[in-house]
Amino acid sequence: MPQLRLPPLPTIGDIIRMYGLRAEKQLSQNFLLDMNLTDKIVRHAGSLNGRYVCEVGPGPGGITRSILHSGAKKVIVIEKDQRFMPSLELLAEASDGRLGLIHGDVMKYNMRNMFPNDLRKAWEDDPPDVHIIGNLPFSVSTPLIIRWMEAISSHSGPFSYGRVQMTLTFQKEVAERLVAGVGDPQRSRLSIMSQHLCKVKHAFTIPGTAFVPKPDVDVGVVHFTPLIDPLIQQPFKLVEKVVRCLFQFRRKYCKRGVEILFPYDYQELVDDVFEMTGVDPSTTPQWLTVDDFNRLCIAYNDICSRYPGIMNYNYR
Ligand code: SAM
Repeated sequence: MPQLRLPPLPTIGDIIRMYGLRAEKQLSQNFLLDMNLTDKIVRHAGSLNGRYVCEVGPGPGGITRSILHSGAKKVIVIEKDQRFMPSLELLAEASDGRLGLIHGDVMKYNMRNMFPNDLRKAWEDDPPDVHIIGNLPFSVSTPLIIRWMEAISSHSGPFSYGRVQMTLTFQKEVAERLVAGVGDPQRSRLSIMSQHLCKVKHAFTIPGTAFVPKPDVDVGVVHFTPLIDPLIQQPFKLVEKVVRCLFQFRRKYCKRGVEILFPYDYQELVDDVFEMTGVDPSTTPQWLTVDDFNRLCIAYNDICSRYPGIMNYNYR
């Protein structure tokens, strides 16, 4: 039975001083030193007892300690900045073999075979005993979540283990966009791209003052559970294109966004889209439901199969 409580260790503040781990502002490094907050993030991931966790961007290891305290069976961290490796090694030594370290870039690392094979579950099953947790720089977390949404749609990368749940931090405004419902002024491309593939929950907000150094913004903790059946069952790139075009003109009627899906000479197809879908062309994009987007994607895909060149057309 692994030891769940870690032996006495220097505090994260002491670790930062001992190893001279100054936060690099240009890398947007902001650390959480308050273990009550790191514990709270980990609690929102659900029970991790006996589970496998990948933590992205552990830095000096505050959240890592909370994950280890929660009874996780194995924690693998991916950290890009070499300066953190010695302090993470100290934590690994204290973890009774439960902490594994990867020095690498999460944007490049293939998480396909990171955990034992017998953890893999069928997509239709309950989520597997694998969880992803991370407090990454905002410049990384947004492109990463889009990349992971694509991986969810193809059941690849970490999602080759099944419907792996994720608990990640974002700039508060981005967290609000991820969960924004119909009519919410924050409703955007990110809302549709995440909500058609996942159940998304804004768990809580951490004030910027809780971080060292303090970022200019507050931070939202967001929990994702991939859906068994995506609400839009069309190729990811097609969905991304339709959603991007529709939100390009946020304050205009959605007809304007549909127009830019088609070359100048094919504008008569715009009316076909609204006829095929029953969507009101004078709706603004923020009022479109995920089901409206589903019908718009089906209609666009259908038209593209009849006019093959249109799929490659990109406005400007
Ligand atoms: N998780 C720690 C905490 O909450 O105190 C550190 C948070 S700090 C905002 C982000 C961490 O992610 C830093 O340690 C940084 O070096 C790391 N990081 C940044 N980009 C990364 C990438 N592409 N792959 C892996 N780690 C990355």
